[in-house]
Amino acid sequence: MTSASDPTSYDLDALRDRVCHERGGEVDASIPQLADADPDLCGIALALPDGSIRASAQADAAFSVQSAVKPFLFALALLDTDGEALDRIGIEPTGEAFDAIKLETGTGRPPNPMVNAGALLTAALVDGDDVDARNARIHEGLSSFAGRELTVDEDVAASEHLLGDRNHALAHLMRAEGTLRVGADDAVAVYARACATLVDAEALAVMGATLALGGRNPVTGVQVVPASIARDVVSVMATCGVYDGSGRWMRGVGIPAKSGVSGAIVLSAPGALGAAVISPPLDEQGTSVRGRVAAEALSADLGLHVFAADRG
Ligand code: GLN
Repeated sequence: MTSASDPTSYDLDALRDRVCHERGGEVDASIPQLADADPDLCGIALALPDGSIRASAQADAAFSVQSAVKPFLFALALLDTDGEALDRIGIEPTGEAFDAIKLETGTGRPPNPMVNAGALLTAALVDGDDVDARNARIHEGLSSFAGRELTVDEDVAASEHLLGDRNHALAHLMRAEGTLRVGADDAVAVYARACATLVDAEALAVMGATLALGGRNPVTGVQVVPASIARDVVSVMATCGVYDGSGRWMRGVGIPAKSGVSGAIVLSAPGALGAAVISPPLDEQGTSVRGRVAAEALSADLGLHVFAADRG
């Protein structure tokens, strides 16, 4: 029998207190702005179907979304290409790191939209004839998912663009294969700016809830993407969202999710709620150490494991 807690009264500060004691992991140092992150930062939020948001301390601290943006870029690419993005990008897990310089054998397509190759392409597939237009479309789309106007950390965007050598390599490789049809440098610029979008755990939880609840933002009531697209995106989060740690994540947490190197994790519990955790120290696969612990506890306490027979 399930004894799941009610998310409307669940004590997120108590969960945060439990999770704060975890000391493992390293803060990402790929760009100076991420290396400067406060390793003690820890915020947790839930977004519920009635539009209410539940938040722990520090759930309003701003951070760059990083790879937690990838499900939303995939959703926007599916919407703007009328599904053609599904032919242009694979949906199989790679078992490799997020920035592996590798495309699908035989097709030259990115393996899936949750690794960097795939997200460089999804960001290139959204509507817009040039970099500014695609940036504007992504900004508007991400803000719709969040239910509020988001901003971009321009320093982070510039650093990512300048220092993202592996992303430049991937973009050129996809150009050579004919799978990327915009300029390589333009593709990196747009993707880097999307990763530099500032959110907090509350906004990211609403974004996760919008996918979990059939594409309708529970705060604004706006249908951001059709339910079929939300389902496709959540399916790929489940299989590929935590890169080469996706199997362990699905067994232990059992909630489709996407990690990012800022220490962000967005979770979409289908039909139930969205959640987000921010805590910068990462494990070797780029997943927030405290984020994983918090997600395991949320899953267990709220009965959210999608494969549990007694799901709450
Ligand atoms: N901006 C980072 C990159 O492309 C995002 C990586 C991540 O969060 N896993 O390298």
